[in-house]
Amino acid sequence: MPKWKKGRNRECGCMGGEQNGREWSAEQVIKSLNEKELELYLYSLHKLAENNLESNRQMMTELYNLRGFNYKAAEEMLQNPELKFAMIILDFANFKSINEFCGRSAGDDLLKCVADALRVQKKKRAHVVLSHVRADVFAILTPYEKKSDLVDMVKEIDEQIASFQIAYKVLPAFGICVAESYTTPVSLMKDCATMALNTIKGKFYAKYAFFDDKMRDQMMLNKMIENDIIGALEENQLAVFVQPKVDMRNGRIIGGEALVRWLHPERGTVSPAQFLPVLEQNGLIIDVDVYVWTKVFEMIGRRLEEGKHVVPVSINISRSHVFDRDFRKRLVGLAAQYHVPPEYVFLELTESGFSEQEDVMYENMKFLKEYGFTLSMDDFGTGYSTMTMLKNQPVDEIKIDRGFILDIRNSRSQTIMRHTIQMLHELDVSIIVEGVEEKEQQDFLLDCGCRRAQGFLYYQPMPAAEFECLLDQKENKISF
Ligand code: C2E
Ligand code: MG
Ligand code: MG
Repeated sequence: MPKWKKGRNRECGCMGGEQNGREWSAEQVIKSLNEKELELYLYSLHKLAENNLESNRQMMTELYNLRGFNYKAAEEMLQNPELKFAMIILDFANFKSINEFCGRSAGDDLLKCVADALRVQKKKRAHVVLSHVRADVFAILTPYEKKSDLVDMVKEIDEQIASFQIAYKVLPAFGICVAESYTTPVSLMKDCATMALNTIKGKFYAKYAFFDDKMRDQMMLNKMIENDIIGALEENQLAVFVQPKVDMRNGRIIGGEALVRWLHPERGTVSPAQFLPVLEQNGLIIDVDVYVWTKVFEMIGRRLEEGKHVVPVSINISRSHVFDRDFRKRLVGLAAQYHVPPEYVFLELTESGFSEQEDVMYENMKFLKEYGFTLSMDDFGTGYSTMTMLKNQPVDEIKIDRGFILDIRNSRSQTIMRHTIQMLHELDVSIIVEGVEEKEQQDFLLDCGCRRAQGFLYYQPMPAAEFECLLDQKENKISF
């Protein structure tokens, strides 16, 4: 077996390791093996793939499962360093619906048809390795000369699948990653091909996508975020900024919204739009949110205790909390711990948060509203079922998304905005408009009877301490 220990290279996420305190890439390690060691390594890969055939194969399609594929693909690449290799991942956008609509056995037949289509390709060229990874996901390792060879291969597979007789539109999609060298780890190629695939999955106009430099940058950023976020929380690299909300009639501060910032020691300030989506996927968003909430409750509690002027501050609630049983207990616990009456904290939820797991969310919201928190629907107008949600959900405040006022000179936008504000007034919910940047937008909103706004025209998000200084200034001391 190779003499390095399996590890993750921080920069590129490649398999690497450490020797004498130095980081080693898989390529360096493999190149450092002498002929005998390499031979032994290849032999062990071969044995691992071919032994225990049953545990390395998918029963239904008789292709390698992921484990068998990983061994066999690595062996093919290492044994043929003169060849260029690529990985293709195939997945269906709508396999669940196919199973539901046509029945599981038709779904199984479709998977067998895919396996046959892949075997046709394997017959055409040497060194191809096939895998039925799981469910409706397949992987192909193949040598190639030109990228167009890979496109032709994908088209042939797609045509064969399209000829399968089934009463449902079948939507396979292909992600392709070309290996940088014969030592590129199979697992990394699979991740890259999957990332390429995810950019087109469900889009009718695109059948395949190659992993490109933009995706590579995004992947490196995602890896950096995953690697560094725990340390960031422990080392206080996450800062709470607050953006004041104002009364447009007089510019007075009537509230604030807490927004997280990552002050990364090497990358500078990383915006939440960049790192929160990654944390939503691995669940760490919950820790980040709780961190921000705690700082906000602590700030309000302290100011109340010191007898200072206080305005309500909004906190953002990620939709991941829908699945978190302790979610409402945590909020109530923080209010009690820092002696903060709940009316000082607004809870901002996005429309998509309301639509997922609607019942559970609705239950939680009802409870928190009855407890005394103010519920605010964030980014209103950007989701899918805005009107249904308005009808059913117990929100107190609507935050109209900045998209609504971006082209406020356009008369159609004006009509939509005017009527939206009127409708919300009639529903008796408070309105705040986000992203006000120009005086013209402000004048229009005031003319529509909307008084509250948040935007760069007034204030940028600022460190919480600066927000506190603003509150301490005399002219901002109004009651809300
Ligand atoms: P959001 O909750 O809709 O927050 C408003 C975003 O609009 C903020 O971006 C703010 O800086 C930006 N903004 C405010 N006024 C203007 C303006 O006049 N023009 C423009 N162009 N932008 C304006 P930010 O801070 O980058 O936050 C982006 C999103 O990240 C937030 O959108 C929110 O969904 C999420 N987020 C931020 N902090 C947290 C957090 O602690 N927890 C959770 N779950 N989400 C957060
Ligand atoms: Mg918000
Ligand atoms: Mg918003």
